[in-house]
Amino acid sequence: MTAPRIEADLDKVEQNTRILVDRLAVAGIRVTGVTKAVLGSPAVAAAMLRGGACGLGDSRVPNLARLAGLGTSRTLIRSPMLSQVGRVVLVSDISLNTEAVVLAALDRAAFRERRTHGIILMIELGDLREGIAVADVPEAVRAVLGHPSLRLVGLGGNLACQNGVVPDDRNMGVLSGLVDATEGLHGITLDVVSGGNSANLDWAFGSHDVGRVDQLRLGEAILLGVDPLYRTPIVGLHTDAFTLTAEVIEVAVKPVRPWGDRAQAAFGEAPVRTGAGTVRQAILALGHQDVALDGLRPPAGITVLGMSSDHLVVDLGDHAVAVGDEIDFGVDYGALLRAMTSPFVTTIEQRGPATARTMRQRGGHDDAEPGPRTGTGIR
Ligand SMILES: *Cc1c(COP(=O)(O)O)cnc(C)c1O
Repeated sequence: MTAPRIEADLDKVEQNTRILVDRLAVAGIRVTGVTKAVLGSPAVAAAMLRGGACGLGDSRVPNLARLAGLGTSRTLIRSPMLSQVGRVVLVSDISLNTEAVVLAALDRAAFRERRTHGIILMIELGDLREGIAVADVPEAVRAVLGHPSLRLVGLGGNLACQNGVVPDDRNMGVLSGLVDATEGLHGITLDVVSGGNSANLDWAFGSHDVGRVDQLRLGEAILLGVDPLYRTPIVGLHTDAFTLTAEVIEVAVKPVRPWGDRAQAAFGEAPVRTGAGTVRQAILALGHQDVALDGLRPPAGITVLGMSSDHLVVDLGDHAVAVGDEIDFGVDYGALLRAMTSPFVTTIEQRGPATARTMRQRGGHDDAEPGPRTGTGIR
């Protein structure tokens, strides 16, 4: 099998979705599955839908285009670029918006395509990324209502992404209050109140009153089973639905300490190597062009020593590893996103545990150590 590769366990994605959908249903909140970290993968999106997500969202137009065949509502969750409104109305039913000039352009684009495009107006709730100031909302609502080819679907917010502002009863209360005020002022009913992303889960599970919030846009929690506020695992969810596998290209016993005069390494300050003696070191064919180093979790007993464009150097500890063997790594959101985006990383998506687990080690020592070494992360 080719390496490096990301293996996705679609059953785990489905199960994670199902658990979140069921828990949120208690509070009257539906789930939009967000696919941007997996490049709009239709297989992952389908798993989210099987798990009960009632729509899909992505931040990129090309990713949304990949989701066309799934027969569900698609939402562009980043404000459309003015230069792409024509494609936006073709690949999405709804987009999140803050700018009057974009609304006007979307209206014209939708009219040309004889479509109606849905709008969720995003409200600034304190995280200082996208959002309309609360005082400016009536004017923005009037703008949408005045465009014949646009439909005001609802209001939304997004916290935690830019400045780590935590969703709570206060800021979510502002959003709910605004929904009530908007309906009253304009004599309308809003279908959707999109409270936020995975960072809202702690609030949604803990709050005794989620107010008018009836939808969350969830990516990280579904895919990786973690709460992005503190990157802690969410009880009951799989944190290993995605695995990154790389192949060993050199194994050697080397001194712990480099020698010669030292300056910067390829990516800035060289990693510090302390201690004395030797280390059993392996190089994997994996680099910054494939993945974000920060987000890689090696198997127990293996330590990352450093990475450059194309080489990942690890201390093997006591593990028996040969050239041609593969090592599995866990990934965080950044590592997953980068790996899925790299043209050098293959994606393998399957339901159930990866069949590759039964693959034999390569490197010409199959006879010496037959069979898979499941559970070690080394194959
Ligand atoms: C990325 C994003 C989401 C999903 O965030 P997760 O933390 O992956 O759940 C939701 N809404 C917006 C606007 C986003 O950009």
